[in-house]
Amino acid sequence: MRANFQDMVTDFLELGLSNEILNAVAELGFEKPTPVQARIIPQLIVENRDIVCLSQTGSGKTAAFGLPVLEYLDRSNPGTQVLILCPTRELCRQISGDLANYAKYLDGVKIVSVYGGAGIQGQIKALRNGAHIIVATPGRLLDLLKREAADISGISTIVLDEADEMLNMGFKDELDAILEQAPESRRSLLFSATLPKEVERIAKSYMKDPEIVTVGERNAGAENVEHFYYLVREEDRYAAMKRIADYNPDIYAIVFCKTREETQKVADALQRDGYDADALHGDLSQAQRDNVMGRFKRKALHMLVATDVAARGIDVSDLSHVINYNLPQEIELYTHRSGRTGRADKKGVSIAIINQKEKGKIKRIEAVIRKQFTRLPIPGAREICERQLSHLINEINNAEVREDINSFMPTINELWNDVPKEELVKKILSYEFNRFLDYYRKAKDLNIPEKSRKDKSGKGKEKESRAREKEIPATRNGRKSSDGDPGICEKGFIWLRLNLGYRDRVIPKDIIGMMKTCGIGKHAVGKIEIYNECLYVALKDKVADYARSEINGAYYDRKRLNASLVK
Ligand code: AMP
Repeated sequence: MRANFQDMVTDFLELGLSNEILNAVAELGFEKPTPVQARIIPQLIVENRDIVCLSQTGSGKTAAFGLPVLEYLDRSNPGTQVLILCPTRELCRQISGDLANYAKYLDGVKIVSVYGGAGIQGQIKALRNGAHIIVATPGRLLDLLKREAADISGISTIVLDEADEMLNMGFKDELDAILEQAPESRRSLLFSATLPKEVERIAKSYMKDPEIVTVGERNAGAENVEHFYYLVREEDRYAAMKRIADYNPDIYAIVFCKTREETQKVADALQRDGYDADALHGDLSQAQRDNVMGRFKRKALHMLVATDVAARGIDVSDLSHVINYNLPQEIELYTHRSGRTGRADKKGVSIAIINQKEKGKIKRIEAVIRKQFTRLPIPGAREICERQLSHLINEINNAEVREDINSFMPTINELWNDVPKEELVKKILSYEFNRFLDYYRKAKDLNIPEKSRKDKSGKGKEKESRAREKEIPATRNGRKSSDGDPGICEKGFIWLRLNLGYRDRVIPKDIIGMMKTCGIGKHAVGKIEIYNECLYVALKDKVADYARSEINGAYYDRKRLNASLVK
């Protein structure tokens, strides 16, 4: 019975959530629960069983656990009731931001996020002000527990989000230590994209007879979707987008942008340039969104320019393309975007428009979706014009010739009597086609060679990259030494050694920034020596140990940092 019941859940109203939460969710533009929400929320509302949920990242997990957690929060009790552990500080921030949005109409909910790589004092202060919900990375939470700045003895729910990722990142010991300390009576929810042995061990050791729920597809690209990218200078991004549209006269696509502002800007520009395009994002009213969606579904619009959130509820199965006008911040969102094409056994095409800086991201996406991208040249004027022309001729050939036209033939013949056939064809095609001919007459080649770094936004990068090269000490044979000896430290300073180096493409500016995040100003930072696999930064002896404790265990670009003092 349960499976049927859950399959039937299609609306937020049926999930058993209060009006305050439903209003907040509606304002975020969530129209339908995602599969993981439809599956998990009703169960969390009515049952108290532990759950291991295997679902991909970007599937709407945060609301799946966040909404029930908020529903059951006792706001009159100032103690910490919910602990959410996740692997990175970005995720911490994202989860606490999402929860704050969901709690918009629940007065007085206190959510505090704590993570490494940021000053601990501010976090201690925030915790002192009260935290119904703590969202934390394991290392930092353990530190705070040791300092008795956080108290999880009264929690009723613990959520392990992206458990596989936490273990991948080496948080095993911290997780064990935290789970040991959490009260027996709590409910545990574990979310993971995969179920490796270590996650299973956590579930077995620390959860009470958990139900294992699998929702949605694996974290992989849909089989029948092909992935392409176009490499452009930043300033040519929009022009490239237009060429893609022009090269595909039958385009029926969602164009994904990063922000609402960008979404609106791109849609406005496309409209100005004569395309059937419109924007879909959270700043629009419900009526406006319905109107846009209605036109897109009827194919009166051929390009829907949308944010990830706004596009979430869209159910269109025959898209010709998904276009990443900009790649998503979160790599996992790419899977979602591209999964919107290639449905119902059709071939799908997912396109990314990228600049030089974003090539690394393509590599990372390839690793997640386990598929290769193919680079395509941006179509030139001639190719586009030929494509458009044959499309037009095709359309003319396929046009239905109705009886009614016969009655007009005498007039038509009279008007065109002395126009030769070839001339006539030229005139008719030009009438339709002049827009393209005009636009593409002076069109430049938008392609850039793989190695060119001349895109506008890339300029800084290029400079920075040169700086990176310059600042790395080289050994005599030209290769960078992997772990150098920085020598004796200047007086009053101590070397702090970090397991970050040239390999990780750090430059001194990054290190100064890192110190700043810990509250250490430039005046306390001395020489910085960077080698291939490690670096040394001279710190005033008063702050050196503090910096070590702040940085050790924190993350730099997903790399866990080891910090030690070299005396
Ligand atoms: P998550 O997997 O929780 O990181 O969610 C991924 C994205 O989906 C976030 O941007 C959410 O705001 C969005 N989202 C979550 N649930 C829904 C929903 N029911 N409808 C539309 N968007 C959603």
